[in-house]
Formats: sequence, structure tokens, C-alpha cells
Amino acid sequence: MTKFACPNSGSDTGGVVISTASFNSNSSVVVDKSSMTVSTPPGIMLGELIDLLAMQGVTLHQTIAWDGVSPAGMVSAGAHGSSLWGRGGGTYEYLVSMRIVVPASKNEGFAKVVTVAEGSDLFHDARISLGVLGAVSQLTFSVQPMTKRSVTLSVADDASLEEDFLTLAREREFAEVSWYSSQKKFGKKCTIQHAHSLLPPWRLVTPSSAP
Ligand SMILES: Cc1cc2nc3c(=O)[nH]c(=O)nc-3n(C[C@H](O)[C@H](O)[C@H](O)COP(=O)(O)OP(=O)(O)OC[C@H]3O[C@@H](n4cnc5c(N)ncnc54)[C@H](O)[C@@H]3O)c2cc1C
Repeated sequence: MTKFACPNSGSDTGGVVISTASFNSNSSVVVDKSSMTVSTPPGIMLGELIDLLAMQGVTLHQTIAWDGVSPAGMVSAGAHGSSLWGRGGGTYEYLVSMRIVVPASKNEGFAKVVTVAEGSDLFHDARISLGVLGAVSQLTFSVQPMTKRSVTLSVADDASLEEDFLTLAREREFAEVSWYSSQKKFGKKCTIQHAHSLLPPWRLVTPSSAP
């Protein structure tokens, strides 16, 4: 819907569409537990990445609500979850560094690989760049230990929803609110996080394997 997504639009010289289809090798997902980071290829699906991380007892800090996106797509588009904790809800806020293939001079072979990392001047600009700077070929995110959570669902009157919402967001790292405005009620899904359990995440627990 934008010129970014349409290489010929508005340009006399045309443009190039780059396929990132082969940028999805799960063997390229490397967890470093000493720095608590994961280096990931840009095109792997988020759901697969989360499962691979879970096998190693770690997880991403924040993602969007749907897992059919790629790490590079999420970061390049500024996609976010929702949180007042840590660095907030932006997936890109937990990016540590990324490698980008950028156009270069003829002497350099027309393309070169640059790495931008936290602390460098270019890092903020490069993160949410919608693909216009080049092709992101690797991303490194900060990760946190897997935890087990228990969830409580409750319904309350919405008279002080604004204050209740803020209190909830400050108290809980993970929570969800559904507002039933015609009923003047809201539903709260509150989570209690159990420290550093290496049990499988909820998304892997099936009725037959659930305790
Ligand atoms: C069902 C659904 C639910 C969603 N929920 C949320 C949500 O909860 N929160 C939220 O913030 N967003 C949400 N979104 C939006 C989503 O985060 C964005 O559409 C995201 O960009 C999708 O990632 P993608 O892998 O499909 O990227 P694409 O759509 O393929 O690309 C997005 C941008 O990133 C660039 N890009 C992709 N790969 C590379 C690469 N390797 N190098 C350089 N640039 C690259 C592209 O050029 C493009 O500009 C949702 C989308 C859907 C379809």
C-alpha cells in the first residue's frame, strides 16, 4: 500500500524485489546463554523461533499477538506487544544488534554487510527502516529465562477502568483486559509468574500432557 512495498513506484530506474524465503534456516538460530541473547535468521516464522527458544529454556521479552510473522518483518515495521515493564512493548526495543546487506560501490562488489549494534548512532534509525536501507540478514535479540505462569480470569465493574487498567499494567508483566462496554464491565486475565521454571511453555502443553 506504500511506495516502499512497490519497487517501481515513482522511480525512473525501477527497483528490485528481494526474496527472503531462504532466510529461515532453524539451524541458524543460536542461543548464547552467557549473554542471554539469540541470533536468528530474518525470515524464520515467529512461532517456530519461540518453540526453538523454549527447547533451550529461554524466550523473547515481547512479541506481537500473532506468531505468523518474521523477526525482520516485526522489527522493520516497529511491531509491538504491550507492556509498561522493562523497555516496553516494542519487539525492536529488545534487539541487541542486526546485520544488514546494503548497496555499495562497484569497488566493493555492489553490496556489503554492515552490523549495527546497540550504542551505535545508526542503530535507532536502522531498526524500524521498513526495508529501505537494505536486506536484514541476521538479528540478535535479548532473551529471558522461560517461566511458568498461572492465569486467573475475573470480571469487574468498569466505573474506574482507567485507574484499574494502569494499576494492573504496573503490577503485572503479563495481563489482558477485555472491555464489555455495553455491560459496563471488563474482564481481567491476570498472570502470576513462577520463577525460572524450565517447564514447557503453555503453548506446548496439550490436554493429554497437562498436569
Ligand atoms: C494477524 C496479524 C496480527 C498482528 N498483530 C500485531 C500486533 O499485535 N502488534 C503489532 O505491532 N503488529 C501486528 N501485526 C502487524 C505485523 O506486526 C506486521 O505486519 C509485520 O510487519 C509483519 O511481519 P512480516 O514478517 O509479515 O513482514 P512483512 O510484511 O513481510 O514486512 C514488513 C516490513 O519489513 C520489511 N522487511 C521484512 N523482512 C525484511 C528483511 N529481511 N530485511 C529488510 N526489511 C525487511 C519489509 O520490506 C516491510 O517493509 C499483525 C499482523 C497480522 C497479519
